[in-house]
Amino acid sequence: MVVNHDYRLAREKMVETQLVPRKIKDQRVLAAMRKVPRHRFVGSGLIGEAYNDHPLPIGQGQTISQPYIVALMTEALKLTGKEYTLEIGTGSGYQTAVLAELSRRVYTVERVKPLINGSIKLLDELGYTNVMYKTYDGTLGWKENSPYDGIIVTAGAPDVPQPLIDQLADGGRLVIPVGDKLSQELIRITKKKRRFVKEKLGGCRFVDLIGEHGWKD
Ligand code: SAH
Repeated sequence: MVVNHDYRLAREKMVETQLVPRKIKDQRVLAAMRKVPRHRFVGSGLIGEAYNDHPLPIGQGQTISQPYIVALMTEALKLTGKEYTLEIGTGSGYQTAVLAELSRRVYTVERVKPLINGSIKLLDELGYTNVMYKTYDGTLGWKENSPYDGIIVTAGAPDVPQPLIDQLADGGRLVIPVGDKLSQELIRITKKKRRFVKEKLGGCRFVDLIGEHGWKD
């Protein structure tokens, strides 16, 4: 039987060995990574691997991202706690919880019903009250609550979906993996008045973003 204390130690070790050496510097992001119980977001057979330096399967052919990638993408959003954040690809809900720690409110969209249902239950149990959920094609965004200060896409896209760009607030940041199905580049787009500044943040590998402005099913 592993007690909660051991999970805290496992998280501390994850932060010190996987995030700090790879230059994750935002203290609020590091604090959220120390706090969110990642082992609750994986199946019971994988709990022992929850804090390891790699992604893990979460069912339905999907994965929970590697801790470093979660931290990197979250840091790139530059959250201060005041933001309205949109997440595409709820999956296990782990990234959602990290965003909920750091944003005013998180809107999260997932196309696979059983996954979002599991996430709603778990995030409720963990006491997150600032998350709104929708089962939908997230390549269309969630227009009703736009614009967003931060948008994060946790599945790989062939191109940046135009609706997501349209739903960015002035000064807002969109972080998304773009590329082919085998590998992608993490991209940040910042909206500055009517200009868009595009930066490359490094290589990565995600499951497919499937939808009208993504890969076809
Ligand atoms: N952030 C998740 C990662 C899940 S993997 C986590 O921490 O666990 C990517 C997720 O994106 C999958 O659950 C997949 O079903 C979902 N997805 C793929 N295309 C989508 C779309 N068009 N809209 C919403 N979700 C999508």
